[in-house]
Amino acid sequence: MSERLFLFDPYQLEFDASVVARLEHGGRPAVILDRTAFYAESGGQPWDEGMLGEARVLAVVERDGEVVHVLDRPLSAERVRGRVDADRRIDHMQQHHGQHLLSKAFVEVAAARTIAFHLGSELTTIDLDRAVSLEQLRGAERRANEIVWQGRPVRVEALSLDEARAQGLATPDGVSGPVRIVDAEGFDRQPCGGTHPRSTAEVGVILVVSLERYKGGTRVCFVCGRRALAAFARRQELLERLVGVFSAPLEELAAAAQKTQDELARSERQARGLLARALDGDARRLLAEARGSAPGASATTPTLVVATFDGWPPGDLRLLAQRIVALEPAVALLASRADKAHLVFAQSEGLPHDVPGLLKAALERIGGRGGGRGNLAQGGGDDPESLGEALAQAAAAVKARS
Ligand SMILES: [Zn+2]
Repeated sequence: MSERLFLFDPYQLEFDASVVARLEHGGRPAVILDRTAFYAESGGQPWDEGMLGEARVLAVVERDGEVVHVLDRPLSAERVRGRVDADRRIDHMQQHHGQHLLSKAFVEVAAARTIAFHLGSELTTIDLDRAVSLEQLRGAERRANEIVWQGRPVRVEALSLDEARAQGLATPDGVSGPVRIVDAEGFDRQPCGGTHPRSTAEVGVILVVSLERYKGGTRVCFVCGRRALAAFARRQELLERLVGVFSAPLEELAAAAQKTQDELARSERQARGLLARALDGDARRLLAEARGSAPGASATTPTLVVATFDGWPPGDLRLLAQRIVALEPAVALLASRADKAHLVFAQSEGLPHDVPGLLKAALERIGGRGGGRGNLAQGGGDDPESLGEALAQAAAAVKARS
């Protein structure tokens, strides 16, 4: 089994090693070395990246107890120099150690145990076994950061299984040999195979960015160290944009956003009222015009309104049709030439026409699609040129039955 240098010294990023096996992993060339500083993905912490000779290390995984380095090209040399990507390693150390401290702080503050840990490419999460309040969350965050700023030494020890159990440590399942313990002096001790800094101070800062109820417990999302700085910068940039959009200082941003939202809701209500009034006026005018153009019709004949508009959205057309047929016994055959050709047909309650059938026949003329039921049907097509013919045909069908 290859010697894992990161277990004893996570700061050693360069090393020389011999290739002991060449294999394939996921269609890529891969090697096993006699010793390695590359961390293989496990326990919620992703793998290290870097270089082996001229080859880029794309992934590092455990396979049958060996550390397998997956490469972007085959490696022919017997001896290689490995270089672990420092930024990625430091980032993982900050997130992982921050996780240990935050998890312990949640035990202290809320008696909440961590049951899952995931170190993602942007955010790190822990799942707690119970619900925690916002106050407990802020308390745990404060406590964990105090431990960071005290710069407590972090040590790694190897204990026998019996020793670990005697100290009340939760030993991992399926482990028979020595248990590796990561100890943040006087605060937290726990079995872990990950890479950790030599001092809590190197975590920098721990910032919780979100909390959500998850499977009866809580999922806590956080960032540490450099990621916290980057996350703060992103939020700052976003806030500055909002400050510009709302023309309000940061402290008044929430109030300004609320005010804008209230004004918008008021405007929308007002616009709906104005539209209803305008459509009511249009409906009365169209009905009067239709009655005027059909002087021979008896008083009991429903009024037939046929009208075409430019650029009306189908929603407004439908509201107008509904208003017309509500005011008096009437049939409304309305069309709009907008981006497409729109049609809305309607009749008053109790009139005998097959409105969906009329629409279907009209749509065939304009090459469109649509439908409806009972007294209202609407549709649209791509041929606004044929709207006139389609309306005339429908009007003729209505008149024939009236
Ligand atoms: Zn750990």
